[in-house]
Amino acid sequence: MSTPTPLLDVRNIAVEYGGGWRTAAARAVDDVSLTVGHGEIVGLVGESGSGKSSIGRAVLGLTSPAQGTIHLDGQDVTHQRAGERRDPSTGIQVVFQDPYASLNPARTIGRTLGEPLEVHGKFSATEARTRIEELLTRVGLPTDAIDRYPSAFSGGQRQRIAIARAISTEPKLVICDEPTSALDVVTQARMLDLLTGLSRERGTAMLFIAHNLAVVAAAAQRVVVLYRGRVMESGTTQDVLHRPLHPYTQALIASSPVADPLRQRKRRAARKQAGPMAGSEGAGSASQGCPFAPRCPHATPTCRTQRPDATVIAGRTIACHLFTADDPTPEGAAA
Ligand code: ADP
Ligand code: MG
Repeated sequence: MSTPTPLLDVRNIAVEYGGGWRTAAARAVDDVSLTVGHGEIVGLVGESGSGKSSIGRAVLGLTSPAQGTIHLDGQDVTHQRAGERRDPSTGIQVVFQDPYASLNPARTIGRTLGEPLEVHGKFSATEARTRIEELLTRVGLPTDAIDRYPSAFSGGQRQRIAIARAISTEPKLVICDEPTSALDVVTQARMLDLLTGLSRERGTAMLFIAHNLAVVAAAAQRVVVLYRGRVMESGTTQDVLHRPLHPYTQALIASSPVADPLRQRKRRAARKQAGPMAGSEGAGSASQGCPFAPRCPHATPTCRTQRPDATVIAGRTIACHLFTADDPTPEGAAA
């Protein structure tokens, strides 16, 4: 559960792209609210194009929300660019998806890891070197990596370096934007262990972005499910992934690959009922109605014309006309 004053408090934000003379801006994120408590890992899950990275960029101060507010540790950072943040190096760090693009190939690992420490200004050169060696050990790399270049490392090792860089200044919050998506399954599992271990040890909070539900389930205590720029359902990982209420969450779970053939058969049946999940149409353009209505097996005319409000039911938040506080389990919609 999140604490009463969360570390990160995102309220009703919208992120828009384009727009100008004669063209309307496209809304990639629409009225999204979420919180991350101190030391908590919150998963943000959704198909490609659902607006996950846009939310991450808004939190990092790399894009300015068109609406809403973002508070970090009680401070309003909504319109502060990344470079203007009062405490940029200790506040938020980020691990991106692509381990090949995120490290400068012309810099040794020592320089890459030393830079945030220099910006931080708290460490002498010797202290910085000792700290870099500690960081490398912590993320499971040999200390002699310090004098080598990124080309000497595999994708998984590079992602470890990116994680070391992100945690080097003891940030309160790390945004992990699909940090394991480019890695093979075994490396992915090791990386998840590393990230959850670091969060536990250091009390680092994480906003963990992924399109893969299994990855989110392995890392996060709470999950926010995004569809076309809007939050469909959010709650504890246990509730949302094992007892999903929103028809979209149910369809998303039905469409995620599982190893167990029996469960696979059950899911295939559920998937048939819910309609196709392939092909993301990007973020929501229709401001009317529920964005999932065209694909929802339970949709009523109201769903197509009226936007569902976020409602709190049994400890989770859900935006669906099937659920009102008085009628939490309509026929056919429960898992
Ligand atoms: P996700 O991370 O979930 O894949 P994104 O936040 O990257 O989603 O993108 C959400 C939507 O916003 C997509 O439709 C995408 O095409 C659009 N979008 C993202 N970045 C830009 C940009 N810089 N300019 C225009 N459209 C963008
Ligand atoms: Mg993305």
